[in-house]
Amino acid sequence: MEKTEFPPHVVIFPFPVQGHVNPMLKLAELLCLSGIHVTFINTLSIQNRLSRNTDIQSRFNRFPGFRFETIPDGLSNKVPQTYQETHKVMVIFDSLRSTAKPILKEIILAAGCPSGSSEVTRQGPVTCVIADGILSVALEVAEDVGIPILYFRTASAASFWIYLCLPQLIQNGELPFPGNELDVPIASIKGMESLLRRRDLPSFCRVDSVDVPIFQMVLTETQKTLRTKGLILNTFEEVEGPILDQIRNHLPKLYSIGPLHAHLKNKIASESISQSIHSNSIWEEDKSCLKWLDDQPANSVIYVSFGSLVTVTKNVLTEFWHGLVNSGQRFLWVIRHDSITDNDKEAQIEEELKEGVIENGYIVSWAPQEEVLAHTAIGGFLTHSGWNSTLESIIEGVPMICWPQLADQQINSRYVEEVWKLGLDMKDTCDRVIIEKMVRDLMELRRSEFLHRANDMTKLARASVAEGGSSDSNLAGLVQDIVSMQR
Ligand code: UDP
Repeated sequence: MEKTEFPPHVVIFPFPVQGHVNPMLKLAELLCLSGIHVTFINTLSIQNRLSRNTDIQSRFNRFPGFRFETIPDGLSNKVPQTYQETHKVMVIFDSLRSTAKPILKEIILAAGCPSGSSEVTRQGPVTCVIADGILSVALEVAEDVGIPILYFRTASAASFWIYLCLPQLIQNGELPFPGNELDVPIASIKGMESLLRRRDLPSFCRVDSVDVPIFQMVLTETQKTLRTKGLILNTFEEVEGPILDQIRNHLPKLYSIGPLHAHLKNKIASESISQSIHSNSIWEEDKSCLKWLDDQPANSVIYVSFGSLVTVTKNVLTEFWHGLVNSGQRFLWVIRHDSITDNDKEAQIEEELKEGVIENGYIVSWAPQEEVLAHTAIGGFLTHSGWNSTLESIIEGVPMICWPQLADQQINSRYVEEVWKLGLDMKDTCDRVIIEKMVRDLMELRRSEFLHRANDMTKLARASVAEGGSSDSNLAGLVQDIVSMQR
């Protein structure tokens, strides 16, 4: 059969949370810049929030081969704020499992594919699907309609590797384990033998029974990756090379093409497109913090943010408040409107914090994080170790204090302290004295040590996305493989 006259057409389907939509949109933009057509599927609620971000609309409008498609959330009601992060993820996951399949199939068939007879749209028939690596509902559809599928995992390679090894951990009796003995070493993950303790495993592994739904979900979804044509990771060889090599023994088609935000920035610069990069935020960014940063001395501010999902109690918030204030350092703190769990209404919150009256600090409900981390006033990042935040910090050479809460954050923070030596891991503690000490260590006492390591890592990260670098070559390989999938 003759090849289609259209460029390849990829359908991208992310899990509907900020930390997944953001890097998958960056991938979409990179593919569009390579001449590939893209249909990007969002749930209605994510699309509604994105459509308020006019930047995104105008950025993607410049690609005639790009379009957004929406699917219903399938949630009868908004997920209550009191739900824990893990619970929220499961509610969304279950809902998509039960509703997304027919709609996704319809979107693919409407564009034209082997088993569909419908009219070909101006984007051309679908060449392949790139689905979030926890959305096997897309794998089932792709297998049904006979279209190749690639997975994209938005978390670190280290966390994916651990998830892939879960059957072995269970077989060797290392999982499940009681919740209170977290310092026991974990021996049976190749490449991480002398690194891991139970507490460093991704949070979903902290189970006393393998029947826990989130554990089952991660276990089964990850194994299904072996049925795909390949896996795309937002990481780079120079930071996670040994682990990527382990994964390649099981998945030879592994494309490490990150850090995606920096990769995209480079491509746009090299194509001389007069479009500055802005974020893919689903929250409104409070840019006033950039003006505040302009008035602060270089490297004097610690940026504090726990990402888009983590929630905290008022007591935890109060410990951070005292730790930060007592450290004597300037701070810029993101406290999302939905980040405080309201099930401890009785707990007291400091007056100053409540009123936002702070001498050395500035609080916003959502920051333009990439711009903040690139600002010369920033000297450190107190982070929850989400993978996007970790990469954004690495690219800007900002040392980190890690306070991991869920998913891959526990293993990311272990790598930050033990392997890359880019900062301190505050895992499983939250105490004002420890916070104060760590902030002082990062910003003053051990500053030069961390800065030295951070600068070295930044150079490696930037080189990987420069022309001919490892991530750049892997992206070229990915584009080539997508082209060769065309029928
Ligand atoms: N982010 C932001 N402004 C904020 C906090 C976070 O733009 O005030 C962005 C951040 O740049 C990152 C994403 O939200 O790209 C969070 O992703 P990450 O993987 O770090 O954590 P998650 O939110 O998935 O837990």
